[in-house]
Amino acid sequence: MKQFKCGDVVLGCEWVARNDDEGVLFQEIQSHARDTHGMDEVPPEVVEQIQRVITEV
Ligand SMILES: [Zn+2]
Repeated sequence: MKQFKCGDVVLGCEWVARNDDEGVLFQEIQSHARDTHGMDEVPPEVVEQIQRVITEV
């Protein structure tokens, strides 16, 4: 299963997402980014950062 900790990208955010499917995980991350961090679109450099901190759990 893949895990993303938002705190690895956004300091102080405690949100954690887990999913077997990286595509679904990304959708969850995108709605979190929009609802919590006000990002209507996740910029490519942030997507890169996200991919770097996704871990296998
Ligand atoms: Zn967050």
